[in-house]
Amino acid sequence: MEPKEDFRRVEEMNLTPVTEIDIRGLAEIYDQLDVYLSVYLPTASRDDEAKNRAFVDGRKRAIEAALPSDQKECFRETMAIVDDLLFEKPIPGERGRIVFASAPASLLAIYRIGIEPVRAMVLDTSPFLLPLAKLRDDYSDYGVLLLDSKEARLFCVRSNVPQEMSHLSTDLMNKHKKGGWSQMRFNRLRKGAIKSFLSEVVEDVQDSCSRHQTRGIVIAGPGDAKHQLVEMLPAEMGKRVLAVVDLPIDAPGKDIVEVGDEIAIADERARSEERAEELRAEILKGGLAVRGVEETRDALNSGRVGVLVLLKDASMPGWICERCQALEARRRPPPACPSCGGPTSAVDVVEELYELALRTGAEVEFVEEDSCLASGEGVGALLRY
Ligand SMILES: [Zn+2]
Repeated sequence: MEPKEDFRRVEEMNLTPVTEIDIRGLAEIYDQLDVYLSVYLPTASRDDEAKNRAFVDGRKRAIEAALPSDQKECFRETMAIVDDLLFEKPIPGERGRIVFASAPASLLAIYRIGIEPVRAMVLDTSPFLLPLAKLRDDYSDYGVLLLDSKEARLFCVRSNVPQEMSHLSTDLMNKHKKGGWSQMRFNRLRKGAIKSFLSEVVEDVQDSCSRHQTRGIVIAGPGDAKHQLVEMLPAEMGKRVLAVVDLPIDAPGKDIVEVGDEIAIADERARSEERAEELRAEILKGGLAVRGVEETRDALNSGRVGVLVLLKDASMPGWICERCQALEARRRPPPACPSCGGPTSAVDVVEELYELALRTGAEVEFVEEDSCLASGEGVGALLRY
């Protein structure tokens, strides 16, 4: 098939932070037929390629067998677009690849990412976004400020890749030559110089944080300067400090990410638990919350959901009407939609609820485990009203 003129092609030859992928834009796309192919492949280790080939081959055969005969050709055309791209040699630092493609809908988007996704290959009426959404939840960007009393390096860690945003340093000893001064005077001057250096760093961090959306910032370094700096931060910035930790000033990127990730993931877990707790409290007092697939679906449809709360492993078979978007859980798709007669297809209801949340501007929070949520099929929502 000749690509149409409005063929949408995104191919990043650099590592793309998962937070930079236009997931809302992707959530807007859907078709009445199963024309969107989504593929997630790990690419970090040497034997991944052989495993990916075997996996894609198996999925390709299974999908083709399940498709009605008039849609098989379209699927083959889509596969022809992505075939080589899926197995291309990974670029430096690449640990995973995400591909969304459709020949009939003229879409091809390839992202190389610095984190490892779980293998998946799905053909559906819209791009399959849940795996990407979970990665974004775990790997939101955060800052790391690494400093001592004369040097400061500010990093933004995006999908496990540290990017150095700025590097400040000062030469305390040369500015204040010791010659002729008393030890006391020298110490006083040195303290003053450190303080003015740290104020410069505070300004730099503030400036950077106002330009980048991050989960927060980790303050790291070898000595006492980091504590001194934390005390100098304005209250607003202080709230964004995730942790203060010991780290050598010349720590390599790998160590920065290792220390930072542990802190960032712990922060994510704590936030998720808070949301789950909030949901439980609201449900217990009959407040602004719902639980279970049907109630959550209805709340999403009426635009009342502020935060969709999902258990990470929640999944529920069901069907959707491709015309009126009627959504029903726990049933096989009827031959035609009972309300509008439109075509139906089998879906994961949780994926549909997630897409609905994105389209209606709701926040989404993934929770590792929670008994209250689990008893509501892993799905619930905090309501705006
Ligand atoms: Zn319908």
